[in-house]
Amino acid sequence: MDIFAKCYDFTIAKQAIEQGIYPYFIPMAENEGTEVVFEGKRLIMCGSNNYLGLTTDPRVKKAACEAIERFGTSCTGSRFLNGTLALHEQLERELADWVGKEAALVFSTGMQTNLGTISALVGRNDVVILDKDDHASIVDGARLGFGKIERFRHNDVEHLERVLRSLPEESGKLIVVDGLFSMGGDIAPLPDIVAVARKYGARVMVDDAHGMGVLGGGRGTAAHFGVTDEVDLIMSTFSKSFASLGGFVAGDEQVIHYVKHHARALIFSASIPASNAIAALTALRIMREEPERIERVNKIGERMRNAFREMGFNIGNSQSPIVPIIIGDDEKTFLTWRLLFENGVFVNPVISPAVPPGMQLLRTSYMATHTDEQLDRVLEIFYRVGKMVGLI
Ligand code: PMP
Repeated sequence: MDIFAKCYDFTIAKQAIEQGIYPYFIPMAENEGTEVVFEGKRLIMCGSNNYLGLTTDPRVKKAACEAIERFGTSCTGSRFLNGTLALHEQLERELADWVGKEAALVFSTGMQTNLGTISALVGRNDVVILDKDDHASIVDGARLGFGKIERFRHNDVEHLERVLRSLPEESGKLIVVDGLFSMGGDIAPLPDIVAVARKYGARVMVDDAHGMGVLGGGRGTAAHFGVTDEVDLIMSTFSKSFASLGGFVAGDEQVIHYVKHHARALIFSASIPASNAIAALTALRIMREEPERIERVNKIGERMRNAFREMGFNIGNSQSPIVPIIIGDDEKTFLTWRLLFENGVFVNPVISPAVPPGMQLLRTSYMATHTDEQLDRVLEIFYRVGKMVGLI
């Protein structure tokens, strides 16, 4: 059997490309933040994770350019050896302080943060317990570890408790959940999760890729609920509100020290260049100094949720500036996506396995820098397209 046989048999995407309905990997020609150019067309961007609009902020861009002048374009090595800059450590100190933990450790992506941290901590006699809607990087981190994996129903703390009760008392337990779920835009019930975790001697890690910069005054989901001390580890990415590329995990100094010396995704991969580190650091300082950005993105989220609901769209349990439009069918999802695209709005179509069958959706997400006029236009286009395809 040729190991490549499956590649030559994989034709679904090619067929969709030929039919002109393939919605992925579309090259962007220009990016001005809230407006982008695709296929020569100007669209309002409602499918980015640039929640605070900082990827095009002049201060962030200038800091990144200056860092390249000073340090060059790459660290050409791992944090462990030649790839640690004083800048990485400065960033770690300011991140730890921002999220309210003793120490932080910067990885090269959020994906690697989860792969490295979870696999370093979950050993042979341990169990990692995941929400069924957890991000793929959490699932893969758990798979890389040598422990057992258990899943509980999405945001169902009673089910989580049943799972915990069934586990041997002597095994180490790590619960890992998204703080703000990337597809549904709903929030993990952290106060209840930390309460059952404590009851069964489990530790809790929160992936706040989407919550950081948005919830809790920007300090994340744990801060939103006032349970920062009860959450043991907080991770996030730089590829969303931090306007850069990279990731970090924060927690007790001794735990971070252990992860630093055991996470293979950190030790065997090059560190982020100075330009990425300074972009994240500058974004962090702007978050601190300009809380009005965080208020604005949340206000926009509320406005869009209310408007979509009033028009009759199904937005599930969204509680944030991530607002899914649930469609429930692959073909209709792609058709609606295409009509929105042609009418001037960029959103992300999400089908299974990324969401369960019947939950196919268009993921819309908003930025602090969207203007009211842009949002009026987005709603008007959604209304027209929603009527056209019979969603409303
Ligand atoms: N966790 C979650 C919840 C995410 O949504 C993402 C990115 N989509 C990641 C982790 C990975 O982050 P990165 O893009 O930095 O690899």
